[in-house]
Amino acid sequence: MIDIFTTQVSFLIFEAVFCFLSALVYSVSKDSLRVRKAIVLALNISCGIMLICEYLFYVYLGSINPVDVVIMHVVNAAVYYLIVILLLLYAMLVAVRLFGRFDLKKDMPCRKRFIAVFVMVAAGLLLVTVSQFNGIYYYFDENNIYQRGPLFWLASGIPILGAFVVTSIILQFRDRISLSQQLVLISYLVLPLAGGIFQLVFYGNSLMNICVGLSVLLMFFENVIHKEQEVIKASKTEFRTGLANEHGYIEWLNAMKGKQEIMDYAVVFFDLRKFSDVNRKYGIENGNRVLAAFGNMMLGKIEKDEILGRQFGDQFVAIVRKANLDRLLQVLKEVEIPFHDIIRDRKEKVKISSRAGVYMIDRMDLEGEDILIYAGQALINAKSRKNEDVVWLTQEILDAMAERKKLESEISTGLKTGEFRAFYQPKVNIKNGRLCGAEALSRWYHDGGIRMPGSYIPIMESTDMIRKLDFCILKDVCEDISRWIKAGIDVPLISVNLSRRNLIDTDLAKHVDSVVSASGIPKDLIEIEITESSDEFSIGVLSSFVDSLHELGYKVSIDDFGSAGSSLALLREVPFDTLKIDKGFVDLVKSKDLSILTHIINLSAEIKVGIVAEGVEEEEQVRILDHLGVEVIQGYYYDKPLSKEDMITRLRSPKYDK
Ligand code: C2E
Ligand code: CA
Ligand code: CA
Repeated sequence: MIDIFTTQVSFLIFEAVFCFLSALVYSVSKDSLRVRKAIVLALNISCGIMLICEYLFYVYLGSINPVDVVIMHVVNAAVYYLIVILLLLYAMLVAVRLFGRFDLKKDMPCRKRFIAVFVMVAAGLLLVTVSQFNGIYYYFDENNIYQRGPLFWLASGIPILGAFVVTSIILQFRDRISLSQQLVLISYLVLPLAGGIFQLVFYGNSLMNICVGLSVLLMFFENVIHKEQEVIKASKTEFRTGLANEHGYIEWLNAMKGKQEIMDYAVVFFDLRKFSDVNRKYGIENGNRVLAAFGNMMLGKIEKDEILGRQFGDQFVAIVRKANLDRLLQVLKEVEIPFHDIIRDRKEKVKISSRAGVYMIDRMDLEGEDILIYAGQALINAKSRKNEDVVWLTQEILDAMAERKKLESEISTGLKTGEFRAFYQPKVNIKNGRLCGAEALSRWYHDGGIRMPGSYIPIMESTDMIRKLDFCILKDVCEDISRWIKAGIDVPLISVNLSRRNLIDTDLAKHVDSVVSASGIPKDLIEIEITESSDEFSIGVLSSFVDSLHELGYKVSIDDFGSAGSSLALLREVPFDTLKIDKGFVDLVKSKDLSILTHIINLSAEIKVGIVAEGVEEEEQVRILDHLGVEVIQGYYYDKPLSKEDMITRLRSPKYDK
């Protein structure tokens, strides 16, 4: 008959030796993922120690020699501590396996569940410690025989519960790993659980820990086998959907560079229409699930020698054979994606349609990045054409890209050579018909003509050039004012536009001040105009910028108020001096819908903010605005933006006849 005691003791030693040996072999091998190497090593060594301790426990069990008693207490406590630590290491290994990382940053997938495991580990360690004093887990009787305490079940219950939580993560993201990997990882729950049930019945056996050892060894072997392939795959995979990431498909394209075969392919850059609606309706977490389900469904539509990837957000890239392109585009028109709504716990379906830019690869010499830029550009064009779902990259688009690049470089040169200069549009006080201020507006002296902001501001706004422009105009304005003062002209408040992009500069107010101070003009002649925004983050940033400007002695006005679904709250939160009512609102004056305007004007009077009405073109508008209590007007009705020479003339005769 088999002697159970000898069998399990042999198993303990055998497994422990194996754990140490594998740790030794592994420590001298290479693993491109260092964290993983550390975790696997720690897992093997801890498990080895745990098994040896368990073995020693049997050796000394029942001995009443004082030294033996101490050893037994120590090794037994070590077993209990290590079982908890193994749970932590197991969770870390799974995280690294599935997501290539282990941390608890906000974007860590399944963060809450990993935190729960952390908490269990902490509680487990605490309970083992407490048990040393009051025997809630176990104690030794007068014969030095081990006895279960009242909460002994928690000692295995916590690690098993933890393993349950980790297993739920494995099952949710099972698509990322092979079946054998899944089974091996899940064995950490299944084997000890089975062993534990056995142990409940056959008290006094160590089957559970033997099973833990077995599972750790399985994980070790599996890890050695899959190590390399997996790291390579992870670096090319987008973690949420399991599709290729940008690195993955650019490398795919680069591997094909120079081969005739690449010209059989087309690149489709697509994004999902109105995906923000899905996020809004079902929540971000469900939105992510829909994206993953969509990616999965699309994977089924492409062939083995094609590739599908996710760029970011709801943007995807598919590289498919030209022969299969129509079929793919057909799917992109509209698909229905079933998913499980985890918030309401029910099955749902969403319809998803896409917009796509397509580049039919027609050259063998392009880098992967350039191919993507081409397809991406076609998508940008698709976005600007309302009724077209698919836009092919055409020569026209390529020309436009080249044209834009040229323009960008001309603008950049123009900034360096002083081609951008200020024009001034007067502001008039309607009570006395006198000029009371002006707004500086940039103009581009280029190719013998004067270009309007519409032709360069959007390009500048999409790069960092807008910041250079703003400071260049500010400097120009300061120099003009300085010259006017010297010429004995009475200079009113001049406002200068600052793009919101400047707000990323945390020392923006200081930078403004250094330009103005260097020119030596009085600071109270400069007002900064900045557009409104409704998002909370920037309200905070804006507010502290306005405070800093005030401290330095400048006035600040809020531009285009009313153009972007204005928040009146902004007015209360940010201490502006002036509010510029957008032309859109001023145009409404004629339609007799004055309710909102009246409200804004009353509010600004209440919080003592001045008002300027912009874009006023007709006498009737002036009359109504006057009636509503607006005093200052800027618009073609009085003056268009004036060149420096015309502005001097206007400054010298500031009274309007109208
Ligand atoms: P904005 O700051 O809202 O400037 C007012 C714009 O409305 C100016 O156009 C002005 O010429 C125009 N405008 C004024 N009165 C009337 C009117 O009665 N009727 C009509 N139809 N339009 C009127 P502009 O000069 O073409 O500037 C366009 C925009 O370009 C500006 O809008 C501003 O956002 C931007 N911009 C111009 N220069 C600069 C600059 O130096 N820095 C920054 N960041 N933006 C600038
Ligand atoms: Ca402005
Ligand atoms: Ca404006």
